[in-house]
Amino acid sequence: MNSNPKPKTIIDKIWDKHVVQAIDHETSVFYIDRHFIHEVTSPQAFTGLKNRGVKVARPHKTVATADHNIPTQDQHLTIHDELSRLQVNMLTKNCADNGIELYGLNHPYNGIVHVIGPELGITQPGMTIVCGDSHTSTHGAFGTIAFGIGTSEVEMVLASQCLILSKPKTMRINVNGKLGKGLKSKDIILYIISRISASGATGYFVEFAGSAIRDLSMEARMTICNMSIEMGARGGLIAPDQTTYDYMEGREMVPKGEEWDKAMAYWKSLPTDPGALFHRELHFDAADIEPMITYGTNPGMGLGISRTIPSLEEIEPRSHASFLKSLQYMGYAPGEAMLGKPVDYVFLGSCTNGRIEDLRAFAGFIKGRKKAENITAWIVPGSKQVESQAKKEGLDVILREAGFELRQPGCSACLAMNEDKIPEGKYAVSTSNRNFEGRQGPGARTMLASPLTAAAVAVTGRITDPREFL
Ligand code: SF4
Repeated sequence: MNSNPKPKTIIDKIWDKHVVQAIDHETSVFYIDRHFIHEVTSPQAFTGLKNRGVKVARPHKTVATADHNIPTQDQHLTIHDELSRLQVNMLTKNCADNGIELYGLNHPYNGIVHVIGPELGITQPGMTIVCGDSHTSTHGAFGTIAFGIGTSEVEMVLASQCLILSKPKTMRINVNGKLGKGLKSKDIILYIISRISASGATGYFVEFAGSAIRDLSMEARMTICNMSIEMGARGGLIAPDQTTYDYMEGREMVPKGEEWDKAMAYWKSLPTDPGALFHRELHFDAADIEPMITYGTNPGMGLGISRTIPSLEEIEPRSHASFLKSLQYMGYAPGEAMLGKPVDYVFLGSCTNGRIEDLRAFAGFIKGRKKAENITAWIVPGSKQVESQAKKEGLDVILREAGFELRQPGCSACLAMNEDKIPEGKYAVSTSNRNFEGRQGPGARTMLASPLTAAAVAVTGRITDPREFL
């Protein structure tokens, strides 16, 4: 008999540890360690609980913030938009009624839910984390199983701290080699999605691995995991390592002293065992990647910035109609070059690229340069703490001197639920995660890119390769 345990992937290890009860071969009752809530997807869940007379099972496992539809200017004033004001007020009341910690508007810890979790140390390796927001996958950068849920599931987690789930298939995406100058982790993930398509990882939970991933900072890793769902994956994660522990040590809600040592023993057991099998494995070379830009209306429609939009012959016949519809929405034609195309708006922010490293990269690039006259730019920190840090480092001054303004934190133009809407027909280079029709405002045309590419566009007013300046 072989006494060696079967090698396991990090996904299997975390998954198996959180199964409370198997229902059948595939489905189980699954324990959730942390639940993040915000003002948009939680009100109906609380109403559902109230109507059923059910109490929140473990209030201390849930953390709330207001982020989706808060203004990014004059946050000390009353919110103008009535629905937004109502939702934020509802969140405040629901949290107070149920004993849930709320980092509401103007709280020093307020910010986008996927920015504040990691920066406060609430997100820790080996956890299961959910939130009523698709980009909960961001927390996977710490080696967690983190994914977005719907409103009825928010209610289920509040009521029981559990979900009924089927185990996803596993995929490992390896990116090896060195990333070139002028490239960011946003380029890595846009490249992967462009190669495997916006549905290429449907049904899988993905581990990102390889030397190019290991070389990334935690903030850059969050960008990768954030966008893992844009290729259809249930979520994405990266095994914790010294970079993870260095980022976490000393953060507000990270275990301290003996508890830290105990936690470390668990965290260090998480990485995938040698020989563990994934259902699918892919390999990419970082040297093949150039700054990326999207040209269509899903994140898979991206290309290296120096390349041209595919011609019709390069597209599978069954996709011609959707390809042409997408280009028509964007006002582009097959075979056109992206470089030099005019742009109206630049948005730096969101849970993909609204962290301090993103602001540093943008400010470092525009320092000593001037904003192009045709560009309206929204520079939106991901949290209050990011905003304070940016000011401490004088990034607000650099931005101001170049003609930009640092706004207040929130989701902002990522999904345009507040006043930050791109007008119809206008072109926006955005560091967020979705370029769907109308995502940044009705009729808005979005091109996804890295903070460095966004900075290059902001100073030239057109699609520009940031490497031209480096
Ligand atoms: S920034 Fe965008 S993707 Fe991120 S939590 Fe807000 S709305 Fe969702």
